Amino acid sequence: MTAPLPKAELHLHIEGTLEPELAFALAERNAVTLPHASAEELRKAYAFEDLQSFLNLYYELMSVLRTAEDFADLADAYLERAAAQGVRHAEIFFDPQAHTARGVPLETVLAGLGRALEAAPERHGISTRLIMCFLRDQSAESAMETLEAARPWFGSLITAVGLDSAEVGHPPSKFREVYDRAREAGLRLVAHAGEEGPPEYVWEALDVLKVERIDHGIRSLEDERLVERLVRDQIPLTVCPLSNVRLRCVDRLADHPLPRMLEAGLLVTVNSDDPSYFGGYAEDNFQGLRAETGLTDEQLRRLAANSFRASFLSPAERDAHLKEVESYRFG
Ligand SMILES: [Zn+2]
Repeated sequence: MTAPLPKAELHLHIEGTLEPELAFALAERNAVTLPHASAEELRKAYAFEDLQSFLNLYYELMSVLRTAEDFADLADAYLERAAAQGVRHAEIFFDPQAHTARGVPLETVLAGLGRALEAAPERHGISTRLIMCFLRDQSAESAMETLEAARPWFGSLITAVGLDSAEVGHPPSKFREVYDRAREAGLRLVAHAGEEGPPEYVWEALDVLKVERIDHGIRSLEDERLVERLVRDQIPLTVCPLSNVRLRCVDRLADHPLPRMLEAGLLVTVNSDDPSYFGGYAEDNFQGLRAETGLTDEQLRRLAANSFRASFLSPAERDAHLKEVESYRFG
């Protein structure tokens, strides 16, 4: 079998990589009772209607993550799967508020994630960055407190901040001061926008939060001027095709706007978002697009190259990966 196309993954929530089997193993380790009879039963619960119904299950399952070892095991399991899918570099989101709110200290979360990420280059051949996300349905004050609490890890373990969770009703501008503070602290900036929310949220993420990258952004296509801006400035969009279908932002993979986005000259990348819940990891998304939308090998190569161009890697690291993408031979 041909090795999968080398790629970077830039939109991946570590909590969304919790496979049912690991959830049950951690539940047993921590004596947590899950309201599901078995891993198979739990898998059946993954039939979401929208973002909110997914988030309900997502937060429920987090109750099994308690110790640093749990977080290390979670990240290591993801990295192992990602490596098998051709991922060479991963910029990983985590949701500190989802853990501190249930009594798990930030130090515990970061000790576990840090351990797995540090071992990743040697163990899995993957370099990583860690992006701390704020839950946008929580207050700006809570986000600010979280930012300040994480300050000891800035630049060492945490290199960027992001914004995720339920989008509609929580515009980016709500977090203006938090992003100003993060920028002053030297952190890189990204935000989810234009997944379920309108194009205005993408404008706000760019102009108010001054993010360098938009996570999702598929609804940008509804606004011609916005598309022009994104193309002109080559703002990366981290698109998640299988996630969009599972959360019903797009009816079928065959209808996904990604080919149109590529054609429009947007710097789009393909990512798995919450792969355990959405039916596929990075290469599964590439293969799904190839099968359902008829993307050519050269278009897939361009998407892989975009993933490194859109990453926070240094120019030298990026160029080494781009060379590997250029010389890749499709089977
Ligand atoms: Zn996401």
